[in-house]
Amino acid sequence: MDLIVKNVRPVTAPETTVDIAVESGRIVAIGANLAGDAEIYDAGGRLACAGLVETHIHLDKSRIIDRCPLPEGRRVNPVTTVAPLKPAMSVEDIYTRAETTLKECLVNGATRMRTQVEIDPAMGLRGFEAINALAAAYKWAIDIEACVFPQDGLTNYPGTEELLVEALKAGAPVLGAAPRYDSDPTAQVDRIFALAREYDVPLDLHLDVGDSTEHMDVRRVLELTERYKLGGRVVVGHMAKLSLMPPAESAAMARRLADAGIAVTVLPATDLYLMGRDRDHDVRRGVADVNHLHAHGVTCSLSSNNILNPATPYGDCSLIRIANLHANILQVVGASKLRDLFLMLSEHSARLLDLADYGLEAGKPADIVIIDAATPEQAVAEIRPPLAVWKRGRRTVTRQPAVLHQPA
Ligand SMILES: [Zn+2]
Repeated sequence: MDLIVKNVRPVTAPETTVDIAVESGRIVAIGANLAGDAEIYDAGGRLACAGLVETHIHLDKSRIIDRCPLPEGRRVNPVTTVAPLKPAMSVEDIYTRAETTLKECLVNGATRMRTQVEIDPAMGLRGFEAINALAAAYKWAIDIEACVFPQDGLTNYPGTEELLVEALKAGAPVLGAAPRYDSDPTAQVDRIFALAREYDVPLDLHLDVGDSTEHMDVRRVLELTERYKLGGRVVVGHMAKLSLMPPAESAAMARRLADAGIAVTVLPATDLYLMGRDRDHDVRRGVADVNHLHAHGVTCSLSSNNILNPATPYGDCSLIRIANLHANILQVVGASKLRDLFLMLSEHSARLLDLADYGLEAGKPADIVIIDAATPEQAVAEIRPPLAVWKRGRRTVTRQPAVLHQPA
């Protein structure tokens, strides 16, 4: 044995404390009083999970807020703000900014990630190249998969589809979309589904941010997912318009999504920043209720989305903070709902990304994160930090609890 992490409360059963034994990068045993000739880490009864899972983040356009003009008036359009900056973004520039953001994700406990990567004629494949290089360089700490997508439109932006195809042929594992920024949203959804079928990749689409529920792209996504039997291979991100619906209507939509096998990633920071821009007072919050979706059987995750750019000018890459933010916005109360929010950063997120090798179980990779809390609900309520992280059995992060230096 190489390592025994003693006295942890596993996220799926925090009422009990157990030890986790690790050998050759894998968990080999979980149980009481494990012993052996190994390095010992005593977690002191703290919470453990198999790593936080960032299911939706834009590393490639993080940390550009200082390059962008301030918005004038209530309306903001992050896409037209970023577009003029793209020609000047070199592979090196993207890599450097993405690396800084990634390091913050790591110290905040992420061990798995799906990152959205923009592809179009202005950006070319430079973002894809930078993210692939970054993923290879940080394989020791995190598994990263790229979701390539057209942020600035597909059907209205000649040359974009050819570049997406080039990325798919080069091995991009997931395809995304942003129909809201296409002159023909439905046509974009149709093309993206056609490409996903042709190249046999799962889908992860930005969907339904806006002022009204009159048009919702998710209806077309439901139709195509059912027609082509793609249940379990489709994720939709945002779904902020669900927050505009009365509960009975959003419940009916949630059940349709669950039945179709479409998972939902809620992105509270961005939706809180972008929604309600049609109003100058009594501004709506605009964040879909992830507990409500979960209660109706939808596989859900919570994620960061944007960090320090015109779609979200804030961010410290703490997923636990995002869960806390969500709890504040949705007025969530009660231990069991807060616990579910933590699972939407970990266990449920792994299911959403279809990660077969995730979890605190014998046989799984020894990805272990110790959080300075006794329960998942405490971690969310108090934004408790990770103290130690192992990736495949190797220590990748250490953070000391704060110490008060009281006078003698
Ligand atoms: Zn996004």
